[in-house]
This record gives sequence, structure tokens and C-alpha cells, in this order.
Amino acid sequence: MPLEFASRIGRIPVYPAADGYALGDEVALLASNETPFPPLPGVVAAAQAAVAGANRYPDPGNGELRRALAHRTGVAPDRIAIGNGSCDVLLAAGEALLEPGAEVVYSWPSFSVYPHLAAASGARAVMVPLDAQDRHDLGAMLAEITVATRLVIVCNPNNPTATARSAAEIAEFVAAVPRQVAVIVDEAYCEFTTLDDPDATLGLLDTHANLVLLRTFSKVYGLAGLRVGYGLCGSPAFKTAVDQVRQPFFCNVAAQAAAVEALRHQDEVTRRVEQTIAARLQIEEGLAALGLRPAESQANFVWFHLGEDADEPGIVAALGEQDILVRSGTALGRAGCLRVTCGTPSENARFLAALGGQLG
Ligand code: PMP
Repeated sequence: MPLEFASRIGRIPVYPAADGYALGDEVALLASNETPFPPLPGVVAAAQAAVAGANRYPDPGNGELRRALAHRTGVAPDRIAIGNGSCDVLLAAGEALLEPGAEVVYSWPSFSVYPHLAAASGARAVMVPLDAQDRHDLGAMLAEITVATRLVIVCNPNNPTATARSAAEIAEFVAAVPRQVAVIVDEAYCEFTTLDDPDATLGLLDTHANLVLLRTFSKVYGLAGLRVGYGLCGSPAFKTAVDQVRQPFFCNVAAQAAAVEALRHQDEVTRRVEQTIAARLQIEEGLAALGLRPAESQANFVWFHLGEDADEPGIVAALGEQDILVRSGTALGRAGCLRVTCGTPSENARFLAALGGQLG
């Protein structure tokens, strides 16, 4: 007899992870929106030193990391929720806020983990299509909020389309959401935007107790493999609730130490953002030369439609055979599109040449 699982196991989608693990150095890993650069200076040493004490459990309160984040952001430590990656905070938010009869509103296509929240909890997912420029349609999202809505998620910049709404538009949106509805603005890629200062939304936390800004060390800080992210919250209640639904030791010693050290290197963050923006321009110009029009990227990746009749799976496979891994739009919610992560200048050039070979 087969095992009998909870009914939600039949509903929860399997995360569409990219290929590319355990491949050789020659493979251009442009499928998972990681940074091509290794962790920041001193960060590896801090993680190694922490591992030397790994016979002890990590600090369950993540005290040093929350103090360091408080120092950098001005948000009080009791309003900072740490996670084993920002995904951990996201999933915990679903568990803490949602249940059958409740609703969660988000855009689509957007981050592949959002559908998990409703499926796991039995809540209803209300997915609002992006606008014609592949941006969040904030007005349409507001119109979907009902008495049953418990959570609204805005991915800004949006994965997979890379488009962003300005801080002023986010402020207007947050002000219009009823105060009992939680708003998570997922800012995993906020450092890469040129629309506003990446910290332009922080001030909203002082006036909106229902707001959470979700951020991560996986992208610009180059710590995806260690798993550490955080939520900056408008009130301590959200932090308490997401801590309540998880195991006590959700963030390991190496991740906590590395994140604290990484925060000390803001100059290096700025330098990497500049390099990423240069890579983004290289890809955008290369795509334009191929007659393709990508969505306006404010992130460390670029999203574009391949054009009518293009063989998306065939192109993804052909690039893969040339050791260039990108994400297929079909896997991310829209057939006929590709998402490519900004890599090193030579990786970007290889991608553009290989794509040109397929389209030409
Ligand atoms: N939010 C968005 C929009 C993402 O694209 C990602 C990673 N792909 C995450 C959150 C989660 O990142 P992590 O769990 O590594 O912090």
C-alpha cells in the first residue's frame, strides 16, 4: 500500500529549481539569479571561524545579526525576523497568516514560491496578471482585496520579469491596503534598482504596522549557499508569529556570522551593484541588436519574449548544450520567454552569441 499523505501534499507545487548544480567551472550559470562573484572579503573567514564552534547550537534569537541589521536599517531588532533564506520567512508568513477561507493576493508571473503559500494552507490564491509592460498592476491588486484577504505580496523588483514599481507607487499602494491585511514587499533584488534609493521604502515601516520588507543575503551579498534572509517589519507581531511557527534554530552559525560580516562591506556592495548594472546593459544592448525587446530590468537578470513562433524549449536546450544555463519562461509562468541572470562579461557575451546563433 502507498503511504497516505496529508491532502495538501497533492496541492503544493514542486519548486521549479534550475539545473546547474555540481557542474564544471566552464558552465555559465545564468539560471538562478545568483551573483557570479564569491562572498565579500572577510566573510568566508567569519563563516569558517563560526563553524569551529559548531558543536553548539546557533543563537536562536539571532541577536548579533538583528543588532547589525538594526544598525544598518534603523529598524528596531524586535521588528526584524531572520530566516533560513528569505523563503523561510515567506513560507512561515503563509503558515502564520493563512488558513482555509482566507485569501492571498499576488501578481503573476511572479516568484515561484508564492503559489506554495495557498496550497500549503488551504487558503485561496488570487493571482493578478502583470500589466502590458510586465509590471505589477497595483490598482488591479487593490481591487482584489476583500474581507477574506489576509496577505498581499508585491515582488519589487519582480522575479521573473525584473520590472519594478517606484517607492512612491509602493507607498501609495501600502497606504490603500486595509490595516488588518499584511503586505509583504519582497525586495530580494532591491539593491539593483536605479529607480530609487534601495532603502527608500524603509520609512514606510514607521507608519504601517502591517508592512514587511523582505530582503536577502542571497543576491548582492553572494551568500545564496548559506541561506540567510530577513524581514523588516512594521510591528513586532509579525516577527513573533513567524518565529512561533518554525523550529527554534532556523539560521545556522555560519550563516549568522557571514551575514554580520557582510553588512560591514557596503562599499563592496556598491561596487558589485555597478558591475551588475554594467552586465545588465551589456545583455540589454546585445538583445536589442538581435531585434529583441526585454522588459525594463531593475534587477540582476533580464526577461524577454523570444518572438512569435520561436522554439523556447529548443533554444533553452541548445544553450544548455553549449554550457549556458538560462531559465525557460514556461517553467516560470509564461511560455515563449527567457530569463537570463547577469553573469560575468564573458558569460554574458557567450550567452548573446549562442542565442544569436539560435535565432539567426
Ligand atoms: N524572493 C524572490 C523574488 C526571489 O527571487 C528569491 C530567490 N530566487 C527569494 C525571494 C528567496 O531567496 P532566498 O531564500 O535565497 O533568500
